[in-house]
Amino acid sequence: MNSVLAGPIGIDLDNTIVSYDEVLFRVAEEAGLIGPDVDRNKKAIRDFIRTLPDGEIEWQKIQAMVYGPRISEAKLIAGVADFLACCRNRSIRTYIISHKTEYANYDRTGTNLRQAALEWIRNNKLFPLEPCGSIKTLVFFGSTRLEKTEYIRSLKCTCFIDDLIETFLEPSFPTGVVKILFDPHHLHRQPSGMEVFSSWKDLPHRFFSGQS
Ligand SMILES: [Mg+2]
Repeated sequence: MNSVLAGPIGIDLDNTIVSYDEVLFRVAEEAGLIGPDVDRNKKAIRDFIRTLPDGEIEWQKIQAMVYGPRISEAKLIAGVADFLACCRNRSIRTYIISHKTEYANYDRTGTNLRQAALEWIRNNKLFPLEPCGSIKTLVFFGSTRLEKTEYIRSLKCTCFIDDLIETFLEPSFPTGVVKILFDPHHLHRQPSGMEVFSSWKDLPHRFFSGQS
């Protein structure tokens, strides 16, 4: 990956930096949708809820809760902070670029999802050297996948890290940007044209080996 070291590095937010597994489980259990036997990961919870009556709508309601009013309970994925620190120490710029609408259809609290995400980013100190206001210059939200890929292009990212293979398969994904798939559950087998990693703890070594 050394060719991408010049940066900037673009990184997706939801399920790449932020884990919702625990809060999804909690909110779904509180709503009486799941029992304790469901695995505590997003895919298992989603797959189970979708089998229920009005399951798709129920799943969207749960997502609206965890991406909005309950986001403070979501967790920073292990290894992300160290990777960002490695980039900072090497003066490699990092941006967070997220596909996120402002509001969720099924959120009765009317929480602004982008404001909630920015607050989560501040609270988890992802950019500890930045004054509060300037975080907005490092975090970008697109309402569509196309808008997201436009940010990747306009910010001149040399690589992009995402948990969703669909981002990289988007026809508008800029050519020449190295695609790095975060696949913690090993769902994909060597997808062509992409680098794959399953733990953020491995990434500094892969990016920066041989560098001081
Ligand atoms: Mg994601």
